[in-house]
Amino acid sequence: MPEPRLDGIREELEAQKGLLEDRLERIKANVRRGFNADSAEMAKELEDRDVVDALGNEATEELKKIAAALERITAGEFGRCLDCGDSIPEARLVAAPLAERCIDCANEAERI
Ligand SMILES: [Zn+2]
Repeated sequence: MPEPRLDGIREELEAQKGLLEDRLERIKANVRRGFNADSAEMAKELEDRDVVDALGNEATEELKKIAAALERITAGEFGRCLDCGDSIPEARLVAAPLAERCIDCANEAERI
C-alpha cells in the first residue's frame, strides 16, 4: 500500500481512537455522577466492574482493534491477512481499516 494512503488510514484510526477514548471517559463520568455511593471507592469499584463493562464494552473492544491495527501499521504488517498471510486488497482496507483477514479467511472465520 502506498505510504500516503497508509498515513491517511493511520490518521483516521488515531482520530477514531480519540473519539472512542472520549466516549469511554464520558461513560465513566456519567456513571460517577449517577452514583450516590457513600464512598468514592465504592463507586469506583462498581464502575470498574459492571457498569463500564456493560456500557463501554463495545468501545473498549473497538479500541483494542484500533490499537492492534496501529501496531500492525508500525510493524509494517498492516494489510496482511492474519490467517493466510496474503495481502488484503487495498479497497477492503480503505473501506474497513480494522479488517484483520482477507475476504476468504473472514468468510471462513464466520462459518466456524
Ligand atoms: Zn486470508
